[in-house]
Amino acid sequence: MTSSAGAGSARRDPFSIAGTAVPAGTRKKFEIPIANLMSGTPVSLPILVLHGREPGPTLWMTAAIHGDELCGVEIIRRVLDAVRPETMSGTIVAVPIVNVHGFNTGSRYLPDRRDLNRSFPGSLRGSLASRIAKLLMTEVIELCDVGIDFHTGSDQRENLPQIRADLDDPKTAALARVFAPPVAIHSRVRDGSLRQAATDVGSTVLLFEGGEALRFSESAIRAGATGALRVLNHLGMFKGTFPPTSPVLISRSSSWIRATRSGILHLDSDLGDHVAAGDTIATIHDPFGQRLGVVTTRRPGLVIGSTHSPLVNRGDAIVHIADIASD
Ligand SMILES: [Zn+2]
Repeated sequence: MTSSAGAGSARRDPFSIAGTAVPAGTRKKFEIPIANLMSGTPVSLPILVLHGREPGPTLWMTAAIHGDELCGVEIIRRVLDAVRPETMSGTIVAVPIVNVHGFNTGSRYLPDRRDLNRSFPGSLRGSLASRIAKLLMTEVIELCDVGIDFHTGSDQRENLPQIRADLDDPKTAALARVFAPPVAIHSRVRDGSLRQAATDVGSTVLLFEGGEALRFSESAIRAGATGALRVLNHLGMFKGTFPPTSPVLISRSSSWIRATRSGILHLDSDLGDHVAAGDTIATIHDPFGQRLGVVTTRRPGLVIGSTHSPLVNRGDAIVHIADIASD
């Protein structure tokens, strides 16, 4: 159906999604029903579409697929605040809270403890997680060309802003560099993840990690929002000006350093530190201050994650170090 918009200007067709039509040059918020709560209250997936006046790529953004990972919700809010459908090209489909149940209860998981990000591509006859995954795939992801999924650290661990993506795929690697995080980490797709399922249906996918669960981390939020706007700018969807960036560090492997003793942890390293082999990154004491041991690095690298827990058991992961490739 076409309508004449006066003065002979041909209007772009509306964007059709989940039975809703979004006219060109507008934004529209709507919800896709998921299932009722046990009390009978309906639960639905909130979605916002910005359908640009001009044609271009279709990009999805998702956050809180782990319900306690809140930074991405704020990142998406800031991106949507910066972009005007009247002046943009292409279409943005934003799903800022994928795991609505976990978001409302401060939980990473769904009520049955299933991890939504291990439940893709999902099935309408499966568990609640599997049904939400299937709904997201058919109603959102399959309509799009490019996607960004926003995550944070979990279990009291904070992550340096970083992109995790298949850097062996030239298109994905190029987009990871455009995003300009401090570091991009090569990571093969993970079984059952949104990233894998979206890649399988033809999306180019970036996964952003930054900050910690249940908190807003301003540096991670800023890195995520600026990175997403850089991607939109690169794809010709949005016109922005950005300060120049330093070259993106590339990592092809990473490992966690573990506590050598049980006790009270004092970190001697910060996110973003470059460490050398043999550096002390943490000290472990008993409750009276007696030093029980030091934790040292085995290889040089970049600190991309660390625990915020002051208490550790021997073997707990405390600092995550990425090997930095010379490229
Ligand atoms: Zn996550």
